[in-house]
Amino acid sequence: FSEDVAGKVVIITGASSGIGESLAYEYAKRGACLVLAARRERSLQEVAETARDLGSPDVVVVRADVSKVEDCRKVVDQAMNHFGRLDHLVNNAGISSVAMLEEVEDVTDFRAIMDVNFWGYVYMTRFAAPYLRNSRGRIIVLSSSASWLPAPRMSFYNASKAAVAQFFETLRVEFGPDIGITLVTPGFIESELTQGKFFNKAGRLEVDQDMRDVQVSMIPIQRVESCAKAIVRSAMRGERYVTEPAWFRTTFMWK
Ligand code: NDP
Repeated sequence: FSEDVAGKVVIITGASSGIGESLAYEYAKRGACLVLAARRERSLQEVAETARDLGSPDVVVVRADVSKVEDCRKVVDQAMNHFGRLDHLVNNAGISSVAMLEEVEDVTDFRAIMDVNFWGYVYMTRFAAPYLRNSRGRIIVLSSSASWLPAPRMSFYNASKAAVAQFFETLRVEFGPDIGITLVTPGFIESELTQGKFFNKAGRLEVDQDMRDVQVSMIPIQRVESCAKAIVRSAMRGERYVTEPAWFRTTFMWK
């Protein structure tokens, strides 16, 4: 079994960089129509341009912050208004964090991690589900090997990725055969997220070079392109899980 995605409609959140951007290109090469969502509209327009060149028949860009419920509704509405159907939802937009719990002065600053990584996926899925059920579509979920890995200083991020995994394992039962779920648990993939751009202990985004150095020295880094290829191939085959030996090894290399 391999689903033909040519002419199908795919929403990708967090498509302005990294894995989401590469996923847009993988779907475009196979002729899928795309709805690309993120906060940086200019980057999205550039990704859309490349996706059209690669073979996507039609691309729509939606500026959206997935931590806001109305923005998520807008993404799904625009997809339906423009294309009249929805086949795949790729829940990918995410942010990371680096902080020891006891160094954090105000833990409420870290709610932002759950707002994007967990609630963003929940909102998108709630609005898309009726249309995915109609098309017997699929949800691709970017969790992480961090969902199993007790990597210190990443407790907020790790917890958000574990929450996502269990949420969608449960939806798998609720949706039955009508909506497929492909749960992806990448290891360490080279992207903006892993270039030391993190929430610091004060809850602000900054570059953490120490963290970056540790990661680079200890963990086999994979490229976004090969990650995106593996994801789209597995989704088209209707696979329930995507992991790779190199991603899995990340778990054992972290000290
Ligand atoms: P990037 O930082 O390159 O991409 C993250 C994307 O999410 C960007 O397009 C960003 O766009 C978007 N985004 C962030 N916050 C929001 C928001 N509030 N609303 C809408 N979009 C948002 O990271 P990756 O490509 O590496 O990460 C993609 C996914 O893969 C994440 O869920 C991450 O947790 C997961 N993952 C990554 C791994 C890695 O090693 N890189 C490993 C395992 C999982 P913008 O800023 O324009 O909004």
